[in-house]
Amino acid sequence: MNDGILALDAASLAAAVRSGEVTAVEVVETYLAQISVQEPEVGAFLSIDAEAAISAAAALDRARESGEELGPLAGVPVALKDNLCTTGFPTTAASRILEGWIPPYNATVVDRVLAAGGIAIGKTNLDEFAMGSSTENSGYKITRNPHDLDRVPGGSSGGSAAAVVSRMALLALGSDTGGSIRQPASLTGIVGLKPTYGRVSRYGLLAFASSLDQIGPMAATVKDAALMAEVIFGHDPMDATSLAVPVPALVDGIEGGVRSLRIGLVSNLLEVAAPAVAAAVERAAAALAGEGATVETVAIPELSLGLPAYYVVAPAEASSNLARYDGVRYGFRGEGATAEEMMVSSRSEGFGAEVKRRIMLGTYALSAGYYDAFYLRAQRVRSLVRSAFQEAYSRFDLLLSPTSPTTAFKIGERSDDPVEMYRSDVCTIPSNLSGDPAISVPFGKEGGLPIGVQLMGPALAEERLLRAAYALEAGWSGE
Ligand code: GLN
Repeated sequence: MNDGILALDAASLAAAVRSGEVTAVEVVETYLAQISVQEPEVGAFLSIDAEAAISAAAALDRARESGEELGPLAGVPVALKDNLCTTGFPTTAASRILEGWIPPYNATVVDRVLAAGGIAIGKTNLDEFAMGSSTENSGYKITRNPHDLDRVPGGSSGGSAAAVVSRMALLALGSDTGGSIRQPASLTGIVGLKPTYGRVSRYGLLAFASSLDQIGPMAATVKDAALMAEVIFGHDPMDATSLAVPVPALVDGIEGGVRSLRIGLVSNLLEVAAPAVAAAVERAAAALAGEGATVETVAIPELSLGLPAYYVVAPAEASSNLARYDGVRYGFRGEGATAEEMMVSSRSEGFGAEVKRRIMLGTYALSAGYYDAFYLRAQRVRSLVRSAFQEAYSRFDLLLSPTSPTTAFKIGERSDDPVEMYRSDVCTIPSNLSGDPAISVPFGKEGGLPIGVQLMGPALAEERLLRAAYALEAGWSGE
């Protein structure tokens, strides 16, 4: 039965739990057993609460027995990135500065997952405050890529990706500021969706760069990602940037195909990719064309300007957002004879090297005399990227590119070269700058390592994006 449970996708598992064919407790015990085997090698989690998961499952089973209708994620084990506030687990964003902090409230997404019957199985590792592309910047530990334990799982949502691919959770939540859902999805061979900015409430997400941050689903299949998207999408009065628009049906109709869709293959993003990655994207383009889409190559040079603009805008926002961690209110407090000394030592000792680098870069870019030269200029480039996308989406329904220029790299390989690490995000960043949705879908392997391709769409086009992603997924043999 256990192998049977692990083989089910989220919709089938939830249906089986709803009908009483399997109990939620059986499901959770199966996943916990899987965790006890995989987790020592992979290191995806920062905290796990087996007891709480089992009692949540038992409560669900009792509710069903008493005739209650269970939700769309009934009994589904969900891993939560540790920058999402949870009352049941510490929430650290993988930073020492928040060590042991237990939030007084749940993020809206967490409440929605729980209300849908999802079981919070644990909190996953990430690059500290989501700053990174490898999960090596965690203040606690590294996470390994289950396909090759000497390699990174990508980042910053590397723990969530590793948890899903090694079946320690069936679904996971990640956050994506410049690619942190899609790049780890690509490097571990799963599906990761960054929704339109404002689709998913950011209430209770520890902020990195507020104008770019979005929460989204990570799953083994496109359908599972769509199912979770339906649960977490929707307006939330607690987030002023949340969009008050209806949530479309995403699962129904996902098999509708790509006939008559116009898809642009972005040549300048293809050119930055390693040969095997570029070849996989070309094959993806051919597969979509084979399904009836019109695929055309298009150069959108402005998208290549996204990377430098992002690395000014994101640190600028981060430097402001992270000012709140001063040793006074949350987590770690350093020594100091005066309040100022205490704050200095709290921040110096509590933050890791990459976070401090971003705070310094951001503060510099915002300071008097440099604001115009850096921040304002970067914002202008952001507008350029936005209008280039707008123009492209007047001619194309979707755009296709690599997700990451390379497959998973070796642990330690890029740690000494931040700029090389930043380059991992060149294909994913543009959709964050524009606020548009994008998805990574596995489409190929090289030397045993997964390759993801990215589909991008205009604002609020998630239904179309998921439909094309589904067609793409079906078009890859898995070899
Ligand atoms: N890797 C990018 C960065 O380091 C993006 C991170 C993210 O999306 N959270 O900023």
